[in-house]
Amino acid sequence: MIGERISIETARAAILEQIAGPLEAEEIGLDDALGRVLAADAAAPNNVPPFDSSSMDGYALLSADSQQAPVTLRIVGEARAGAGSPDHVEPGTAIRISTGAPIPAGADAVIRQELTSPLEGAVLVREAVRVGNDVRYAGEDIRAGVVILAAGTLLGPAEIGVLASVNIPRPSVARRPRVALVSTGDELIAPGRELAPGEIRDSNGPALSAAAREVGAEMVLRECVGDDRSATIAALAAAMEGADVLMTCGGVSVGPHDHVRPALEALGAREVFARVSLKPGGQVCFYVAPDGTLVFALPGNPGSALTAFRVLVIPALYALEGRSHSRRIVRGIAAADLAGTIGRTTVVRCTAELRTNGWHVTPNGAQGSHILTSMLGQPALALVPEDRELIPAGEPVAIEFLG
Ligand code: AMP
Ligand code: MG
Repeated sequence: MIGERISIETARAAILEQIAGPLEAEEIGLDDALGRVLAADAAAPNNVPPFDSSSMDGYALLSADSQQAPVTLRIVGEARAGAGSPDHVEPGTAIRISTGAPIPAGADAVIRQELTSPLEGAVLVREAVRVGNDVRYAGEDIRAGVVILAAGTLLGPAEIGVLASVNIPRPSVARRPRVALVSTGDELIAPGRELAPGEIRDSNGPALSAAAREVGAEMVLRECVGDDRSATIAALAAAMEGADVLMTCGGVSVGPHDHVRPALEALGAREVFARVSLKPGGQVCFYVAPDGTLVFALPGNPGSALTAFRVLVIPALYALEGRSHSRRIVRGIAAADLAGTIGRTTVVRCTAELRTNGWHVTPNGAQGSHILTSMLGQPALALVPEDRELIPAGEPVAIEFLG
C-alpha cells in the first residue's frame, strides 16, 4: 500500500518525532574531536589569557615616564615568555620583555622595540605610550566561568583550540550515530570488477557511506543483497543489529523484484511514511524497527538516493548527534529557468554564485534522477515549490545549503 505523499517539512517533523534526543555522551581527546558535537555546555575553568602579558617584543615601563619622550630608562631585568621577571619596574626604569611574557610588577605599559633605541644598560624611549599599550590583559579573550561553547556546537579547529586554551582536554560529545547500509539489486557490482551484460556499478554504496561519514556518522556495515525476498529479510535483520540507523537503497517500488518494504514489514518495522513530495527522491520510505533502529529505504537511482539522504537523513543524523544547525535556507535568485513539477517539491541541484544582490543559482547540468554528476561539489539545492511548474530566470527561489 503506497501512502499519500507528504511534504518535506511534514516528513522531517515525523522523523524528528522518532528521535528522543542526542545519543549518549562520551568523553574524547581533543585529537579525536574534529567533527564531533558537544554534548554539554563548556564553561571556561580559567581566564584566557591567564595573566597580563606583552603583545610585543620591547620594554615594560611606566606610561608616565614615557610622557617625557625622548627619555632614557635604566634596564633592571628581563621578562621572557614562560618565565616572569622577579624585578619591579620603578620610575626611571624599564624591563626588557618578549611577546607573551608576563608584565612585571610595577609596569603599566609596553613600548615596542621599534620605538626605542638601545643604549648601554639603558633604553632610549622615543615616543609616549598610554597605560595598557601593547598589554594583553588576563581574561581579555575568555573570562573564567563563562560558557564558551554551547551544547550542540560542532567542533572545528578553532573550537578545539579554545577547549585546549581553557584546559578542557576531554570534552563531552555525543556518540557518533552507527549507520548500516544495504544496497539492493541483482545488477550491482562493486567498482573494480568486470561488468557482465546488464550489470552496473554500485555507486550508491560508496556515495551514501561517504555522505554519512561526512556528517559525523560511523559506518558499521555496508553490503549488497540481490533481489530476493528471503535474502533481503536476512540482510536487513542482520544490518539492524548494532545500528542506530539503517539505510537501504533500491527495491522500494512496487515491481515484482522490489523486496525492501515487504522485508521490513516481515521484520515488524513500523512504517512512518512512504512517499514524500520530493523530486528526485520521493520514493523514500521511513520505518522504525522493533529494536528502535531508524530505517530509511532510499530509492535506487543515484541522484534520488543522495537527494533524499541530504533532505531527510541528514536532519536525523544531526538530531542524533545533537547538532544544532542542520541547514541554512536563504532566498536566492534563479540565474536560469528552474523547472518544477506540480504536486512535488522539485530539488534542482545547482551551483551557487554570490553576487552583490545575493546568491544566484544555476542548474548543475542534467537533472534526471539517475544522474549523479549534478551533485558534484556539494550543490546548493534550489527548492521549486509544489505549485510551480517553473521559476523563470530572475525570480526569487529558496535555496538550501548545508551548514
Ligand atoms: P530500483 O529503485 O531498485 O528500482 O533502482 C532504480 C535504478 O537505480 C535502477 O536503474 C538501478 O539499477 C539503479 N540503482 C539501484 N541501486 C543502485 C546502486 N547501489 N548504485 C547505482 N545505481 C543503482
Ligand atoms: Mg532494484
